Amino acid sequence: MSENETWTDDIANQPPPFENVNLFASDRVLTETIDREGAAIDKAQLQEFGAAMGAAEMWEMAAAIHRHTPELHSHDRYGRRTDRVEYHPAYHTIISKALKAGTSAAPWRGDQCGHTLHAALEYLLAKVEPSVCCPVTMTYAAPAALKHAAETAAKWIPAVAAAEYDPSERPAGMKRGVTIGMAMTEKQGGSDLRANTTRADPLGDGWYRLDGHKWFCSAPMSDGFLTLAQTENGLTCFLAPRIGRDGKHNGIHIIRLKDKLGDRANASSEIEYHGAEAVLIGEEGRGIRTLIDMVHHTRLDCAVAPAAFMQTALAQAMWHTSHRRAFGKLLVDQPLMRRVLADLAVEAEAATMLAFRLSRSFDEMQHDETAQLLSRLATPIAKYWLNKRVIGHVAECMECHGGGGYVEEWPIARYYRQAPLNGIWEGSGNVICLDVLRAMARHKGATDVLISELKLAAGANRHFDRAVSNSAALFGQTGEENARRISERIAVLLEASLMLRHAPAADADLFCASRLGDDIHQSYGAFAGDADVDEIIARAMPMA
Ligand SMILES: Cc1cc2nc3c(=O)[nH]c(=O)nc-3n(C[C@H](O)[C@H](O)[C@H](O)COP(=O)(O)OP(=O)(O)OC[C@H]3O[C@@H](n4cnc5c(N)ncnc54)[C@H](O)[C@@H]3O)c2cc1C
Repeated sequence: MSENETWTDDIANQPPPFENVNLFASDRVLTETIDREGAAIDKAQLQEFGAAMGAAEMWEMAAAIHRHTPELHSHDRYGRRTDRVEYHPAYHTIISKALKAGTSAAPWRGDQCGHTLHAALEYLLAKVEPSVCCPVTMTYAAPAALKHAAETAAKWIPAVAAAEYDPSERPAGMKRGVTIGMAMTEKQGGSDLRANTTRADPLGDGWYRLDGHKWFCSAPMSDGFLTLAQTENGLTCFLAPRIGRDGKHNGIHIIRLKDKLGDRANASSEIEYHGAEAVLIGEEGRGIRTLIDMVHHTRLDCAVAPAAFMQTALAQAMWHTSHRRAFGKLLVDQPLMRRVLADLAVEAEAATMLAFRLSRSFDEMQHDETAQLLSRLATPIAKYWLNKRVIGHVAECMECHGGGGYVEEWPIARYYRQAPLNGIWEGSGNVICLDVLRAMARHKGATDVLISELKLAAGANRHFDRAVSNSAALFGQTGEENARRISERIAVLLEASLMLRHAPAADADLFCASRLGDDIHQSYGAFAGDADVDEIIARAMPMA
């Protein structure tokens, strides 16, 4: 060693960085799933976006925007309101890349399998966890509600479909592209939106004046906010542009930014409406019904994101353990580690299959009633279950990294902090499971459609067949106290059915035996009996 060197320059037994890896092409499960669920998608788009997301500079930017969180500038130096959020430059770079790739635009500009293309792009974005998924998701979902107001839709949906990022402070009609947020939750109630107190008073020209507050409003630099407010006829949906019809700020005051556990690069704010002008969306008194069409689409992404986190955390655990040695062997060759990795792999695979089976139902529901029913019921089920699974999954992948995984410089810490979010946002666990019961009660054919989907795998595995038959009575139960049990059971059966039809036998068999068999385990790697761990691990290894 020379005089200028220190012992820490002599680095051994550390893996090379997991970067400059194409996050689409390297992922067998994802590429196969997209071939199946989005056959008509031009894969070149995903290849290109996967390469861009996996580039070393992208990982650096994602880390930087988590470190340099957004800052609120509520006033200028003269005391005038500015209500401006300042982001790290990399935030703009990444959201621009995501929007230009069509992540929000795909279905609205008429792309083939547009919702699945959207979901795949969102999945690749989430793999880096740059915390820009929230505004991209809300912008993707907003047209589903905007469609309830023809004139407004004609102005705003083309601006979403334009697939452009334009952060300038101008009225939406003058911009190359727009982003859209939503403001529902108030201090006194989020799940129970009927408790909203924000008032909407008609101005006489089809527009309304909003006064009140919102406790959560993410991405407050969006161009417009789908908002719930009370009219004389009850809770109603509005679009409140950030820049008003007169070209000035529209009475939307940002009070403060939330100091969140994760999702740190995305600003989430508390806001007040002070006479903000807003246009009616849908009918007065039908606000929840109108906005739920948007929420249904955001919930798709709430299922896609945890699947992406699991798959990317797994890839990094595979990578790390394939390069790190302990006790004379690579970690990936240690028998106990192999069982942990195999178990994590089948969980992530099933999650990915479920998320994209769901996205296909969004593509098909435009012209197919069966798909509509499947989408209605399977969306809350997938949102609930995948967000319950992701937290423990990411924690276990972190543990595979040893102490390094707990350090913020490694991406795994970002997934860990992000992991609980999609379970809370857009309907927290209990509320979502109660929605599953509602979907079963109100859409009579939905349960039958779901059972038909399960039966596609009938006869393929004894644990699965027995679990389906044991669950028949559960499907008919309506008591709220059973809502989690029903949602969990259907979710696992749906995953198992997909695994049995589309995964190699080794993966499907382990999934069914360990999740539906007699000896169900509680922690990863603790499954009973034999499994073809070699085959499962070989499939899960990222293709460099
Ligand atoms: C990072 C982040 C960003 C967000 N961004 C936005 C945004 O942009 N716009 C927006 O409008 N909102 C946003 N939210 C708010 C979010 O949607 C709400 O926090 C969520 O819907 C829950 O509402 P709440 O906080 O009022 O909880 P509560 O409604 O008080 O619920 C608390 C708990 O009680 C449970 N619960 C409620 N009712 C029942 C019941 N009948 N039976 C059993 N259990 C029940 C819920 O499942 C939950 O677990 C965001 C939240 C987060 C964390």
